[in-house]
Amino acid sequence: MLVDLPTFRPHKLSVATMNGQTLMLIKIHCSDGIVGIGEGTTIGGLAYGGESTESMKLAIDTYFVPAIVGQDPTRVQALMARIGKGIKENRFAKSAVETALLDAQGKRVGVPVSELLGGRLRDRLPVAWTLASGDTAQDIGEAEKMLDLRRHKIFKLKIGAKSVATDIAHVAQIKRALGERGAVRVDVNMAWSETEAAYGMAALADAGCELVEQPVASAAALARLVRRFPVALMADESLRGPETAFEIAKGHDVDVFAVKIAQSGGLFNAQRVATIADAAGIDLYGGTMLEGVVGTVASAQVFATFSRLQWGTELFGPLLLTEEILVTPLDYTDFELTVPVGPGLGIDLDDDRVTFFTRGAPRKTISVAG
Ligand SMILES: [Mg+2]
Repeated sequence: MLVDLPTFRPHKLSVATMNGQTLMLIKIHCSDGIVGIGEGTTIGGLAYGGESTESMKLAIDTYFVPAIVGQDPTRVQALMARIGKGIKENRFAKSAVETALLDAQGKRVGVPVSELLGGRLRDRLPVAWTLASGDTAQDIGEAEKMLDLRRHKIFKLKIGAKSVATDIAHVAQIKRALGERGAVRVDVNMAWSETEAAYGMAALADAGCELVEQPVASAAALARLVRRFPVALMADESLRGPETAFEIAKGHDVDVFAVKIAQSGGLFNAQRVATIADAAGIDLYGGTMLEGVVGTVASAQVFATFSRLQWGTELFGPLLLTEEILVTPLDYTDFELTVPVGPGLGIDLDDDRVTFFTRGAPRKTISVAG
C-alpha cells in the first residue's frame, strides 16, 4: 500500500522540496498466521534515485510476489537469494521485503530483528536532526527548540540549492548561534562541482562545521577531496551496496560511510557495507531515506548491531511527519532513539490510521492532528 502522510513543514533539499512523504508499506502473510511488515520509502519521488514508492509497489506486486508465494518464510536469506536471482537492482523494494520477512521471523522465534542479525551492542541510538526549512532564522529557532526538548543536539543542514557563498554564510550563522551546544554538519546532496567543493569545504571547516556529506556526485572526486581540509567527508549517494562500498573503501576515499538499508539493498547488505567500512578504518553513520516508523525501526535494529557507530544516526524520519501510525509511538528522549525490544521489529501498526492514509482506500473517520 502507498501511505501518504503530511510533513510538519516543507523539507528543502538540493534535489527536491518535500511537502509530504509517501511510505510504501508491505505486509507478508505467512501460512502459520504470522504477518511481517516492511517499508520502502524514498526522497522526492524520483529526485533522489531510480526507485519511487509507486515503482516499488509495481515491482513487488508484479515480480516479487510470484517469487515469494509458496516459499518457506523461515529461511530469509535463502528466499532473498531466490528473489535476487530473478530480480536485478530494485534495492529499495528488496529492503522492504527483507524487512517484512525478518519481522515475521523475529515474531515467530520471539526475538528482535537485531538478534536475528547477530545481536545488538546498544539499545539507544543518538539521532541527528535535519534543518531544511530554507530559512536561516527559522532553522536556528527549530534547533533551539530541539535542544530545549533534549531531542537533538546534532544538526545536519541541507545545502547546495543556493550559491556556495550564501550556503556558507547560512551554516556559519547557525553554528555561531548554537556554539558548543550543538554540532553542525552539512549535506550537499551532490550539488557542487569539484571546484566549488574545494572552496566550500575549506570555508565550512572555518565556520566550525564538523562533517560534509556527499558534496559532489562522483566517487573519484570524493577521493580527491578527502583529507585536504580539517572537516570529515562522508559518502552517501555513492554507496549503493557492498560492491560500491568496497570500491570506495579500497583507497579510503572518504572518512565516513552513511549506511542506509534501502541504498544497501536490505538489512544484511547494510551489515556487509558496515563490515567493509570497519575493516578499512572508515567511520560509520546510520543514515535515513526519511523512512516512516517501519523503515526507521528496521534501520535501528541493524545499526544497533554495528561494532562501531562513531557518528550516530539520523533516524528522525517519523518526527518529520504529523501523523502517528503506531499503536505505541517510538521513544525519542535525551537525544536518542530507543531500539524496540519486542519480537521482530517490535512495533504494532495502528491499522485504522494506516488505512485512513492509504492512497485509494475507502476512508473511515479517525482523529487527525490539526
Ligand atoms: Mg545524504
